[in-house]
Amino acid sequence: MPPKANAGDKKRKLFKRNGRPAAGAPRWTRTRYNMTDAFPLYYATAADNFRADVNSALIKLEGMKHPKEDCPVIFGADPSGPDYSEVTEATLPEEGANLATVVDEMLELFDGLANSAHPLHQSNVLPNANKASLIAGILANYTSQNFIEGENAWNLSKAEMETAAMISRLIHDWSVTSAGGIFTYGGAGCYLYAVKYALASVLEKQNSRCTGVRVDGKIFCSQQGHYAKMNATDWLGIGMDNIVDIETDDETNVMDLVDLQDKLRDCTENGIPVLVIICTMGTTDAFAIDPVKSVADLIEQYPNPAGYGKTLIYCDSAIGWSFLTFRNYNFPENPLQFSDTVLAKIQETYDRISEVRYADAVALDFHKTGWTPYATSMFLVRDLPRFKNLMNRPGSAYLHARTPYNPGLYSLEVSRSAAPALSAWASLRYFGATGYQSILAGVLEVSQYLRGLLKDEPSMICVNEDSYGFVTLLRVYPEGVDAETQYQKELSDPSEATKTELKYHNELQENISKQFWWWLRSGSKIDGLYGPYASFTSGFRTTDYNDDLGDKSGVIYALKSYPMNVNITTATMDDLMSCYRIARERALNDEPTDLEVPEIGPPYDQGTEVPVCGSDEPARTHITNMLSGVVGSRKKKLGRGIPRLRR
Ligand SMILES: *Cc1c(COP(=O)(O)O)cnc(C)c1O
Repeated sequence: MPPKANAGDKKRKLFKRNGRPAAGAPRWTRTRYNMTDAFPLYYATAADNFRADVNSALIKLEGMKHPKEDCPVIFGADPSGPDYSEVTEATLPEEGANLATVVDEMLELFDGLANSAHPLHQSNVLPNANKASLIAGILANYTSQNFIEGENAWNLSKAEMETAAMISRLIHDWSVTSAGGIFTYGGAGCYLYAVKYALASVLEKQNSRCTGVRVDGKIFCSQQGHYAKMNATDWLGIGMDNIVDIETDDETNVMDLVDLQDKLRDCTENGIPVLVIICTMGTTDAFAIDPVKSVADLIEQYPNPAGYGKTLIYCDSAIGWSFLTFRNYNFPENPLQFSDTVLAKIQETYDRISEVRYADAVALDFHKTGWTPYATSMFLVRDLPRFKNLMNRPGSAYLHARTPYNPGLYSLEVSRSAAPALSAWASLRYFGATGYQSILAGVLEVSQYLRGLLKDEPSMICVNEDSYGFVTLLRVYPEGVDAETQYQKELSDPSEATKTELKYHNELQENISKQFWWWLRSGSKIDGLYGPYASFTSGFRTTDYNDDLGDKSGVIYALKSYPMNVNITTATMDDLMSCYRIARERALNDEPTDLEVPEIGPPYDQGTEVPVCGSDEPARTHITNMLSGVVGSRKKKLGRGIPRLRR
């Protein structure tokens, strides 16, 4: 039986006017009163200590950095780990700790974390966040506004609409009075939006939003497109088998238009609707940019069957979008004085990226080439009114359109943070076009310098010389081997002898990468250098004789340099070259790379099964064969096979 309430309970004053517990008030009121100090105060007073708390936490975090002259690529003192061995021992403490203790415990989690601002942090498209975006994150979270609607987010919602306007203005023919965007949880979220938009649009007459998707519509995407195509089709219940991979051109890595045309014709002839053609505007490694204009023309030529809406075009410009900031750059005069090589690359890249103008929707990852925190992505549509009409859902009983902006009625999320939009908005204003131009070109300029160093080093070779992207892919051969000759041989010669050499040299790349990892994670300093954080890919491309990926050994491994942060200079690249030499020597000498990584326990140690979708039909996805860069490219004509429409 519940304890009986006191007769006086109803009207009892628990608190004094000053907010303190009243005399004789129950115990919880004291704990609760103490917790007013757990939040920033609601009123203005110089006495609020939150500012000092943040400051002291930042001082502690900064204390985990190292002096410039002796600076490993991690925060803190312990490069080993991570140690997940005791995670299931966590319990909710009976009594809370004081703030300083919690912050100290929190900072322990940062020990050993890679420092993405460090010049030798060149592992991936993983840029460090700029100050304006970090402050945006703090302020947005401080006030915890919900981006679901203007009533909650008030003028903060302008950050979303104004970012959309700023970006739309960079796209030819797009109008800021019809384009609009919505922030979501990453490039993968944008993919989900795109495929959902396509379903709603193409299957509008089928009423699929109410009755479900009952048609095997196809998703066309270059075989080098991001694997988020699988997330989207899998989660939306379309099925990964409905992805139709378009083969890519040997030289340029972009969608092969002949193959695209063939497959579109197949669909038209068989009465199969194509929901969306996804153009990747800069693949993660090869930075291939698909030809959107030609895709748009082909869609006109091969319309969907009667009763279906027009095929959508979605540009996955998660990485490539920021080249749009060159829209008004004076290329002939080159006011920022970029080198001829880099200027030419930028111009070419901009020209290709600017074809997003033909798209119905575009993705932008600010946490990649926008230098903001995760996850800050915008899904931008050319025709917001149409998008809203197709995506709107009935509202809820407790949300009222008190302000004119209510994206919660058509967004994927319900509650949404204001932080991403504010971070992106702040970064665009903070850097301006010139800032973005310099920071982007800077990546290319230091990469170009590295490529120059590689040219001067006969035993090493850059294997993506013609790429327009951020990454330099290279192969390091033993000293005395002429990298150029050897690489060409490995690419083209299917003899067993050469295959053995290819395997040996692939392993060398992997072993150099392992040496790097050991170097970083053992905290060793060799010849005055700490270990770099740089990775390698086990599937940059196939050999010329392995277009169909039939031969597992016929792939090219490569080391990667992804120099995203502004602290990387030409001197860093000199150091990186020393790192390659040191790691090569250690690899060839079989120096041990063992690191003790504590085991993870159940339930996290359980193996998982990956579904194998598709069949031998090349039109389908072979998810087990996904490579990061150039996959089997179009050389010989493969048979086609798009499954018939199921009714
Ligand atoms: C990173 C990336 C994605 C996925 O984006 P997330 O922000 O990681 O979800 C999709 N497409 C391309 C081209 C990417 O580079």
